[in-house]
Amino acid sequence: MAKRDLYEVLGVQKNATESDLKKAYRRLAMKYHPDRNPGDEEAEQKFKEAKNAYEVLSDPQKRAAYDQFGHAGVDGAGMGGGARGGPGGASFSDIFSDVFGDIFGGGGRGQRVYRGADLRYNMELSLEEAVHGTSQTIQVPSWKPCEPCDGKGTRDGSEPETCPTCHGHGDVRMQQGFFSVQQTCPRCGGTGAVVTDPCNACGGQGRVHHTRELSIEIPPGVDTGDRIRLSGEGEPGERGGPPGDLYVQVMVREHPIFVRDGEHLRCQVPISMVTAALGGELEVPTLDGRVTLRIPEGTQSGKVFRVRGKGVKPVRGGPQGDLLCRVVVETPVNLTREQKDLLKQLAKTLDKGGDRHSPQSQSWLDKAKKFFEDLKF
Ligand SMILES: [Zn+2]
Ligand SMILES: [Zn+2]
Repeated sequence: MAKRDLYEVLGVQKNATESDLKKAYRRLAMKYHPDRNPGDEEAEQKFKEAKNAYEVLSDPQKRAAYDQFGHAGVDGAGMGGGARGGPGGASFSDIFSDVFGDIFGGGGRGQRVYRGADLRYNMELSLEEAVHGTSQTIQVPSWKPCEPCDGKGTRDGSEPETCPTCHGHGDVRMQQGFFSVQQTCPRCGGTGAVVTDPCNACGGQGRVHHTRELSIEIPPGVDTGDRIRLSGEGEPGERGGPPGDLYVQVMVREHPIFVRDGEHLRCQVPISMVTAALGGELEVPTLDGRVTLRIPEGTQSGKVFRVRGKGVKPVRGGPQGDLLCRVVVETPVNLTREQKDLLKQLAKTLDKGGDRHSPQSQSWLDKAKKFFEDLKF
């Protein structure tokens, strides 16, 4: 049987990093692990294949040999997956705990530990906070040892009894087809101990809920959808297991003036008909102070002016963006008779000038005229 390329087996690129490999192997192992596919020989083969590929590629020396010589470079070094563990898959747990150690704990029997749950915190920020960065204090749900029972879970604070089902091992062995499968003891849940007379305060868990304060530094430049991972700040693990992670999910509130567009900020600035025609200067706000915007003579509505460097410095690096101001010419309303007369006078002089004053209108009118002429009724 031809051996498949090891990178192909794991579904990774040749330049995969150690963490890529681990991730890929973890995904396959989760899918094909014999515990999850009892009696399925194809799954067992796939598991062995993935295990072997991971064993070779995760070892820098073996990986180099494989890259240079292919399978010939690593044959005999643990090929076939069963070579080390022997038939029956008795030692699946050794490699399993390498990769899954942080989920299931790598402890021996009776010392099974559980990684704490990951937590997600939705944090709403103003645009200013997101752009400049901020520090915030949040309340994180957590656990602490129960005081009345001193964390033991028993009513009188004495040591819990040894579990009669697993005799304190925390695991039981079950026969499933050809496999002897190690499972968490259903009676004690892997603790190896049972509480027959539970503490009132914690119900026998040995721990109680509490909230703790955590101060979080939000780096400048974050945006809606960004996620900040605080390693180890999730729920504490059980029985000495490692804590989970805390993910802070950023949501930036709408701003009355600015709209974020990647590293740029956009805003809309109304200008008067007169400023648009004659030109002028305009004060516009930015997130750090005002700037003066010079409007040239004859500016059309919709024109976008760029104020360099007044945007956002992206959190992942790169140059600071710009502020993009789109001017919109405001048509004057509630005119007095006198103002209307002035405008009419102005209109007459503009008409005399023809397309000199309104090239866009003139060209549009020409097109419209031609369109009507081409229509055959
Ligand atoms: Zn037990
Ligand atoms: Zn208690």
